[in-house]
Amino acid sequence: MGATTAGPGPGGTGAPPAISVRDLWMVFGEEAGRHLAAARQAGGGLETITERLQAGGLIPAVRGVSFDVSEGELFVIMGLSGSGKSTVVRCVSRLLEPSGGTVEIAGENILAAPSRRMIQLRRSKMGMVFQHFGLFPHMTVAENIAFPLKVQGVREAERRRRAVEVIGLVGLEGREDAYPRALSGGQRQRVGIARSLAVNPDIWFLDEPFSALDPLIRRQLQDEFLSLQAELKKSIVFITHDIAEALKLADRICIMRDGIAVQIGTPAEIVLNPADDYVAEFSRDIPRTRLMTVGAVREPLDGRTPDPKAPALAEDLTLEQALLRCLEAEQCGLMPVVDADGRQTGLCSAEALARGMGGGIGGGALPDPDEAPASDPAPADAAAK
Ligand code: ADP
Ligand code: MG
Repeated sequence: MGATTAGPGPGGTGAPPAISVRDLWMVFGEEAGRHLAAARQAGGGLETITERLQAGGLIPAVRGVSFDVSEGELFVIMGLSGSGKSTVVRCVSRLLEPSGGTVEIAGENILAAPSRRMIQLRRSKMGMVFQHFGLFPHMTVAENIAFPLKVQGVREAERRRRAVEVIGLVGLEGREDAYPRALSGGQRQRVGIARSLAVNPDIWFLDEPFSALDPLIRRQLQDEFLSLQAELKKSIVFITHDIAEALKLADRICIMRDGIAVQIGTPAEIVLNPADDYVAEFSRDIPRTRLMTVGAVREPLDGRTPDPKAPALAEDLTLEQALLRCLEAEQCGLMPVVDADGRQTGLCSAEALARGMGGGIGGGALPDPDEAPASDPAPADAAAK
């Protein structure tokens, strides 16, 4: 498996990833596990195995998916309806029994865990939010939110205290005693989010949580969700079919098509280096300049020295940010480009920035010459071939 599935997780503590999925298959139908094993035994590539299963009346919904989610990472799974996103998440929480592959949560092989342990994990380590809220209509906001704690056997006073705390987190103060029917869609989803946070989970699954909301409310909830995550730093799997939402929220995005993870990468990698036409089509209308970095337009030093009065540009500044830096500076001739450790890695001129912003260089899809080739040959990508 490619090392590139590992996320940019903080710390580098050597701890196992929050979630590790390898060669995950979910086939619907009778005795799917046995049929899958037989179909694979018979040899051939992914498509051959798929055809064999389909010929037997089975539905391969997830096919050989691999990815890691680092601790504190916001990992987005994006794809059209029916591409297998929800099925992946249900396998990872083991609401569905995968037909093949492995799933580890913080290094624990959960496919070998007894059901008692799974219930415990789901109740205390995992939070889940779904598109259609799933609130109890006969319970108040506070009761809905405290419900998972009640299931855990937490005493009433403590339940109420914790409910009030998460109600504050999602901005629903004053609505504690309202019933769901009295709330707007956005407010109902706030309750759903608060309820999923009540048990203080390590891993947070959100399956199209904002898809049923109006665009304005949706954007507002996305912003709030990002600030919440900046504070809580959960390990998150967030599902969406909306590329703009994916690019806005994600540390990394996994693009799914027909049960396959076709590409895994940062928002910039997905937009600037799409693995195929399917991925490229998603981000066709996304302005590249917001994602393209100085690293992509940097020129080699070639014995030249930068203008001593020009501002140094970090490689990972976007072109927009770099141009602003340039405008604010007294002088910006040939600017030094520096890496995260402050080492000079090249040069950049204001013209190169402007050209990049115009998308003039290869339509803006110019990869970083040093980093692009190794950037993300996702394992699933290889499997897709
Ligand atoms: P997404 O969440 O990306 O919209 P799903 O994971 O829900 O997609 O579904 C992936 C595929 O698996 C779809 O073709 C769907 O019809 C099929 N599928 C999902 N659940 C079942 C099931 N219980 N039985 C049979 N097929 C299913
Ligand atoms: Mg779904």
